[in-house]
Amino acid sequence: MKEGRVLLVGAGPGDPELLTMKAVRALKIADVVFYDKLVGKGVLEHARREAELIPVGKSKGAHSVPQAEINALLVERAKAGQTVVRLKGGDPFIFGRGGEELDALRAANIAIEIVPGVTAGIAAAASLQVPLTHRDVSHTVTFVSGHEAGGKAPSFEHLDLKALASGNNTLVVYMGVTTGAAIAQRLLEAGFRPELPVIAVENASREDERRVATTISVLAAHPDSLGLKSPAVLIFGEVAGLPVAGVVETVLAHEEVKHAYA
Ligand code: SAH
Repeated sequence: MKEGRVLLVGAGPGDPELLTMKAVRALKIADVVFYDKLVGKGVLEHARREAELIPVGKSKGAHSVPQAEINALLVERAKAGQTVVRLKGGDPFIFGRGGEELDALRAANIAIEIVPGVTAGIAAAASLQVPLTHRDVSHTVTFVSGHEAGGKAPSFEHLDLKALASGNNTLVVYMGVTTGAAIAQRLLEAGFRPELPVIAVENASREDERRVATTISVLAAHPDSLGLKSPAVLIFGEVAGLPVAGVVETVLAHEEVKHAYA
């Protein structure tokens, strides 16, 4: 019997043109593709017509397959000799639980290949034409999750917020749509300057991409002011105040919404 294997593949942020050539090749050889909700529609079109396409992703209110079950499915199909693609939004190893799948596959002695993808924060920055690091205004970039287990806003205890507040840093928050204001409040308390720019990008790289700019003090005081819907990333830092390409909604204060065209 042909030996099976699993390819953990990053599907990028949605735009199929942001797929790597390796990701496309992986889709062309897959017998079965287990894909997440965040995978763009055009991406799956690269799979063979005969390939089995199986959604396993979470969508709010809808059934999603528990992680342990996904792990078991990957192992089972690879053991049956299939070429299995596990397709994840963005990069499989950035907030994608790719590490857990890797552990399960290694424990079962399955051959594995990892195909990196363009993560959402990088795609958002590219679309805005905002550099995440910049010689003058940002020397580090930190990808953080805006959620803790149980859906709470994170405490950021694992971050040296004092050091980050001293400037020249960029924070890119994933899964922060509902917790963005609490995060902004936390940053204010840690000494970030109130006027520090924030820019949120919803559906980065997709046709319905939307961007909203504000400051941490406005975001902290008016939690719903950005009107964000998932998926979105929030970029906190001086770079978020650099000139931006394309249309940006600007929330200056609660009542005041200005449309800026750069
Ligand atoms: N592995 C993915 C992240 C998965 S966690 C990656 O590397 O991009 C899910 C979070 O990713 C979402 O809550 C959102 O914060 C972000 N995200 C994924 N796709 C996005 C997109 N097209 N635009 C903006 N944010 C996105």
